[in-house]
Amino acid sequence: MTNVPNITLNNGVEIPQFGFGVYKMQDKDEFMNVMKMVFEAGYRHIDTAAYYGNEEWLGQAIKESGIAREDFFITSKLWNADHGYEETKVAFEKTMKRLDLDYLDLYLIHWPSDHYVETWKAMEEFYKQGRIKAIGVSNFQIHHLEDLMSQTEVIPVINQIETHPYFQQDELREFMSKNNIAHEAWGPLGQGKSNLLTEPILVKIAENHNKSVGQIILRWHVQRGTIVFPKSVHKSRLEQNIDVFDFELTDQEMKDIKGLETGKRLSGDPDDVEFLKESAKKKID
Ligand code: NAD
Repeated sequence: MTNVPNITLNNGVEIPQFGFGVYKMQDKDEFMNVMKMVFEAGYRHIDTAAYYGNEEWLGQAIKESGIAREDFFITSKLWNADHGYEETKVAFEKTMKRLDLDYLDLYLIHWPSDHYVETWKAMEEFYKQGRIKAIGVSNFQIHHLEDLMSQTEVIPVINQIETHPYFQQDELREFMSKNNIAHEAWGPLGQGKSNLLTEPILVKIAENHNKSVGQIILRWHVQRGTIVFPKSVHKSRLEQNIDVFDFELTDQEMKDIKGLETGKRLSGDPDDVEFLKESAKKKID
């Protein structure tokens, strides 16, 4: 078993700093097989979303695992087509029905599409009823967070944002840290969309520690205090990914990685209003 530390969120809830994300896992047989390996490797924190289309399979995998519900930390997200007070109530009930769970550990607004304030107010109610242990957001910029916090009561526990050595999010991180909002990194390995995994500086650091480049990147996230949940459907990779708690990057290595910032995203921009509008057309059953 691994020794994944917990991070305490601003409402006192504890979240394992290392988890597994299930984006783009859309084949049921593969999903069920991979989840067996994932639980076996020691992962207990799983990140899904209504949009990923696999909440129902995750619920089944949890039941079949025989592991106690309270040992898991399960996150799901409200999709862009479901914003609004009443819409959120319906979407959340559907998510819970698909997962077939009594409570959700963390529920996030997936993107800051229109009407996220009304969405949040519905989420606050479920939170107060105890049906969700913690509520947060994803892909929120500073101005979205300021806007949300000025109109609502509960401060988000987390903001889940694209983060990797090429896009480190320092300004947003500082704002989040000041407001006690934890940082979750999505696409922590760059989603295979760049040369990150063959970046010479990272290759050199990997040689120093006799680790893979993937492990160096994940260790960098962990050392910055970020919560991560990389995805892999391969046993050897998903086992090595979580195995980053027995070594430490030096200050110089952390500095060298800081120098890799490009200022460029590899994926969707939360300030791209057209992108948000288009994505909100995709309804989830
Ligand atoms: P990632 O950076 O985790 O990259 C995943 C890809 O990296 C895999 O497909 C695999 O090919 C490769 N990989 C994994 N381990 C590797 C290793 N050790 N060596 C080499 N290659 C390796 O990207 P992701 O899956 O998009 O992000 C992780 C999770 O973040 C998702 O599964 C999802 O849960 C979440 N996510 C959230 C949002 C959001 O908008 N909130 C967006 C994207 C992803």
